[in-house]
Amino acid sequence: MAPLQPESLFSKLETAPADEVFALMGDFQADTFPEKAEQLLLDDPTFDHEYLPIPGYAPFYNLARDLIFGTEDSSIPKDRIASLQTISGTGANHIGARFLADHLPHLPTAGAKRTIWISDPTWANHHLIWNLVSSGSSGNPIELKTYAYYHEPTRSLNFDGMMKDLEANATTGDVILLHACAHNPTGIDPTRSQWLQIADLCERKGLFPFFDSAYQGFASGDLDNDAWPIREFAKRGMELCVAQSFSKNLGLYGQRAGAFHLLCRNAEVTARARSQVVELQRGEISTPPSYGPRIAAKILSDPALVEMWKEDLVTMSSRIKSMRRALYDELQKLQTPGTWEHIINQIGMFSYTGLTKEQVGLLREYHIYMLDSGRISIAGLNTSNLKYVADAIDAVVRKTAKPASNGSNGSNGH
Ligand code: PMP
Repeated sequence: MAPLQPESLFSKLETAPADEVFALMGDFQADTFPEKAEQLLLDDPTFDHEYLPIPGYAPFYNLARDLIFGTEDSSIPKDRIASLQTISGTGANHIGARFLADHLPHLPTAGAKRTIWISDPTWANHHLIWNLVSSGSSGNPIELKTYAYYHEPTRSLNFDGMMKDLEANATTGDVILLHACAHNPTGIDPTRSQWLQIADLCERKGLFPFFDSAYQGFASGDLDNDAWPIREFAKRGMELCVAQSFSKNLGLYGQRAGAFHLLCRNAEVTARARSQVVELQRGEISTPPSYGPRIAAKILSDPALVEMWKEDLVTMSSRIKSMRRALYDELQKLQTPGTWEHIINQIGMFSYTGLTKEQVGLLREYHIYMLDSGRISIAGLNTSNLKYVADAIDAVVRKTAKPASNGSNGSNGH
């Protein structure tokens, strides 16, 4: 019988390099730094599993309000903002929709129905959320309509179409839903000067702005910059509301940490309106969850943690931007038919690639999954998979490209 090897057969193996993303997550888990917000919460002797009050955890929704509206501008006094904690951004969208469907008075032009205007396209849940409340418990139905937003041939904002639609068809008392930043799914936001024109139009026509803010800090990496449109509308004295999510920017997805804010004309109206939203909350969920909002409040109330969070936001948003650039560069290098500048011009974690449904279907053969609309999550790209994804896109675009009659590169299927 051969003697046992003194050493393991594998003793010469080197340690394989760790996957960067998973290693980072592992390092974070192993980190015992006492300032980790969750640890601070667990060490807090006042933390318990009691019900929160109906409007939620006050330190959280007040800090959330300050994050959206800022603390610098005294033209937006806090007593004009009714805030409460919600089941994340979805819950905030829903309770806002329910409240407006029930209580926003219509000042109708004869025969006109109340309308909620949403962008074409938008986050799919906006359709569902507004359809659910559209009959209006006051017996005053609210109709869902879309305004032009995406210009497919140039894969950019159809600003003229949007303004024309609203100018011609929106009437006083209608609601307009606006994505505060990082429009989902297109990744295309208005410029500041376009935002000013949208604000002018809302003021002139008496439209009620409903801001959905699901990516503050995730778009530009700067919390104030990403809240700029909301603050610009607010300081004009308009009444408006905001649905705020902390799923992405604080990574609290499953904790359902969000807030709803209603900005009213004066403090007295604000208090009454808030009591109505609180009443809705009581009937729908009774009281919101307590864990996630307490983590968020630990961070938002501690200047040192806020600084760390801001650095993280810069890291995350820069990584997304560099992945956009890398995908674009790779497609350029491959001379993939079509134009791809839109990938670098868009912002936030999503990109409307302009790939057709057929191309999206073919990409599945490469194990690449995206929505039929061609929307990809840029956050899913990393230095290891980028070349593979670009090669696959190149292959399916070439496979489906129609021969170009003018001898040019052709388009990628539009
Ligand atoms: N609004 C938009 C535009 C979104 O993209 C999302 C998340 N996908 C939400 C709201 C709400 O997300 P959550 O309920 O997780 O906060």
